[in-house]
Amino acid sequence: MSTKQSSKATGRLVYSFGGGKADGNEGMKNLLGGKGANLHGMTQLGLPVPPGFTITTEVCTHFYSNAKSYPKALESQVRTALSRIEKTMHRKFGGRKNPLLVSVRSGARASMPGMMDTILNLGLNDETVLGLVEESKDPRFAYDSYRRFITMYSDVVLGIHANQFESAFEDKKSERGIEADTDLTAEDLKEIVAHFKQIVRLAGKHFPEDPWEQLWGAVGAVFSSWMSARAITYRKLNSIPEAWGTAVTVQSMVFGNMGDDCATGVAFTRDPSTGAKKFFGEFLINAQGEDVVAGIRTPQPINEASRHAGAKALPTLEQMMPKAYGQLVKVYQKLEKHYRDMQDIEFTIERNRLYMLQTRNGKRTAAASLKIACDMVREKLITKQEAITRIQPEQLDQLLHPTLDPKARKDVLAKGLPASPGAATGQIVFDPDLAEEWVKNQNRKVILVRLETSPEDIHGMAVAEGILTARGGMTSHAAVVARGMGKCCVSGCAALKISAERKELNIGNLMLREGDYLTLDGSTGEVIRGQVATIIPTLNQDFRELMKWVNEFRELGVRTNADTPNDARIARGFGAEGIGLCRTEHMFFESDRIDAVREMILADTHDGRVRALEKILPMQKGDFKGIFREMKGFPVTIRLLDPPLHEFIPHTDDELKSLAKRIDVPFDRLKRKAESLHEFNPMLGHRGCRLGISYPEIYRTQVRAIIEAVCELVKSEKMKIVPEIMIPLVGDWRELKYVGDYCREEAEAAIAEAGIKGIEYKIGTMIELPRAALTSAEIAEHGEFFSFGTNDLTQTTYGLSRDDSGMFLKDYLDAKIYERDPFASLDQPGVGRLMEFSIAEGRRTRPDLKIGICGEHGGDPSSVTFCHRAGLDYVSCSPYRVPIALLAAAQAAIAGPRGGLLVSKPKKKTPKTKKKAQRR
Ligand code: ADP
Ligand code: MG
Ligand code: MG
Repeated sequence: MSTKQSSKATGRLVYSFGGGKADGNEGMKNLLGGKGANLHGMTQLGLPVPPGFTITTEVCTHFYSNAKSYPKALESQVRTALSRIEKTMHRKFGGRKNPLLVSVRSGARASMPGMMDTILNLGLNDETVLGLVEESKDPRFAYDSYRRFITMYSDVVLGIHANQFESAFEDKKSERGIEADTDLTAEDLKEIVAHFKQIVRLAGKHFPEDPWEQLWGAVGAVFSSWMSARAITYRKLNSIPEAWGTAVTVQSMVFGNMGDDCATGVAFTRDPSTGAKKFFGEFLINAQGEDVVAGIRTPQPINEASRHAGAKALPTLEQMMPKAYGQLVKVYQKLEKHYRDMQDIEFTIERNRLYMLQTRNGKRTAAASLKIACDMVREKLITKQEAITRIQPEQLDQLLHPTLDPKARKDVLAKGLPASPGAATGQIVFDPDLAEEWVKNQNRKVILVRLETSPEDIHGMAVAEGILTARGGMTSHAAVVARGMGKCCVSGCAALKISAERKELNIGNLMLREGDYLTLDGSTGEVIRGQVATIIPTLNQDFRELMKWVNEFRELGVRTNADTPNDARIARGFGAEGIGLCRTEHMFFESDRIDAVREMILADTHDGRVRALEKILPMQKGDFKGIFREMKGFPVTIRLLDPPLHEFIPHTDDELKSLAKRIDVPFDRLKRKAESLHEFNPMLGHRGCRLGISYPEIYRTQVRAIIEAVCELVKSEKMKIVPEIMIPLVGDWRELKYVGDYCREEAEAAIAEAGIKGIEYKIGTMIELPRAALTSAEIAEHGEFFSFGTNDLTQTTYGLSRDDSGMFLKDYLDAKIYERDPFASLDQPGVGRLMEFSIAEGRRTRPDLKIGICGEHGGDPSSVTFCHRAGLDYVSCSPYRVPIALLAAAQAAIAGPRGGLLVSKPKKKTPKTKKKAQRR
């Protein structure tokens, strides 16, 4: 909605509903807001909705683009609409007899906390309240309504905090020695009203007696609340555009506070925490508005199915008002059938008559979301495609990891990044060795707390329930490894002051010691004091069924990043169709071989290196066999050694001294070597394929281990395996050619020695440097597959800090820059564009080039959508994200076809750059 449309705010500005007819319908959320559109929709369905009208969101837009003024036509349209309500209700707004009272309700397209609170009973003043007394013959009710109105109006429109009125109200109750609001007499309430008015005067504000002035004040407050700090923050966090604006609904009041044959309540058409198909809700007798949620009195269950431990003795709505309850049941069934989703409804009963005040799709837990979607397919209410699109892929995460028991109390100490979901409780340890000791020998559960983690901490991370770091972002070592392990992790929690020597952890004024209990919530980033109970969800029949449907629709392959047979097995269980990234450096770190690796690094001669490598080869072969067996013939991409060698040498002098002794090398020499190996440039240093060029024997040994493992399994277990050997950090086709050539030579030699025919393998590369993406046409001549390493590619393309990098492609895609203005993205040095260019260039050279992605983005739903459309063959992600990627891939396929430029669609007029002519 732009300025273009705000000029539209001259036609119809007000839509009426009531008496079985409505100007709008539930499809008009953009114009009438979610709440408004559904009130019109419910009216059209023939449900009992009090009459009213909705002022459109376009008026809100006009309001802000015209110095907070209204379109000229608004006033007369509002007057007309209001007189329609008067006619339907046989009441008069501001009338001394039968006064019409209204509620003023806000409502944007998406339900939005932070917007103005609803004002009830508008139209009351010292005159009309007498009319209400006469009509209802219930002065208590009339003055109760009046005091509520003054409170709400003063709070929302005049800016006098409701606290002031509430404490005056409580004072009166204690003065009279009563507990329940409903025990106050009409006289008491009359006095309260007078007191309230005095509070307003003392605050220097004017309480308008004129109902029209009240109405315009309330309407203005709704529009103004669109720009409140709360609303702005909420919109930012949830990417809701400011241009949407809010609508205002003015609706005739119905009264749930008119006596014991009146009530108000809220209900869900199915259980929002489990998804069980049962009508579920709460209500209060003789109450109004938000009394039910405000917790003043204990709400009563609407039926037996809704009864919980705290409401054992309370009668249900079904028991107390069987007729109204019966009506409500009919209404909810009709609503669910019509909206074809679980509804969250608000209702009021006035003198045994039911009125509907709101319906919307109900919020629910991941488990409920899954159950409801599956049940509705079985009930033939929705299609499989709809079920697939209704579940947010990220929500599945909740189902795969232990989560905090929602009923447990928690004392949140600090918040870090929600790096790896799930929940964990355990004793604090600062040292990975001690973590191992406590878990393995003492049967304790631990939380590993580190400034940041490194590959040397893996053994401690592996045994910990959860990992907490003070530094590092969503792609830090701790975060990536924890997600890979399916383990809870909170990273980058800056509030932690860790002193590993003193074995202390300080958070604010609180000091925790080694052995103290701590709980982490990796889905929210919360660090919680002590032990909190967790619950382990189970993958149920619904989950398996959904995954079956997912596989019917998706076109993109989903593999996993796995370095161990155990990870491979977990991922297969979740439906992974191969390994997209098997990193081999972890194998080098295993305690039984790290010293052989170090010996290899420290050897000064080729022969010395080969001798050390010969010790490692059989062990690596064993690792590969384990993984191939788990993958049962699915493709496995193995990346040859990637990190710089200094990462395998200890950092501290103490560790170096002990290593020197173990491998019998003088300490000084070891220290000098360690210093000479140190790398400053994380991506372009002496590592990856460049290491492979300096020391071909390392990659040759790895290739031999892979091929021998394949040959032995083919021979002994008749398996069919086509390994994909991946060369890391290639920036130029010459690197790939040089390394690829000798790897092929080694592979052929190993195959010949094994004497087996028909062994196939592929040699390809990771695209993780911008230069590799830009020279993909040349690189594809020398590699049979590409795998986008988007973690490094993102960092090298944007030069962003490590903390932001993992998130960026997602943010970029979420912002949909490419949709809004294709040209803006041409200036955007984006990873998506690099990928598209690389794919097009690579496939131009080699049409059957196999392309995947193995960066963290492979498990990020919006990036999976991108990969679907960009024409990748598969995405690869950590085992626990496999179901998320599978679901996202199916959603992407349902949403639209593959192919076509996504990020930068140049307009036809753009002169074509003569790329072809420039190429060699
Ligand atoms: P929210 O968006 O905070 O839920 P609503 O506009 O739905 O705000 O109003 C809150 C509550 O106020 C409703 O659930 C209902 O109980 C009460 N309410 C709103 N309008 C009316 C009305 N016309 N008559 C009686 N109660 C109303
Ligand atoms: Mg509310
Ligand atoms: Mg509501």
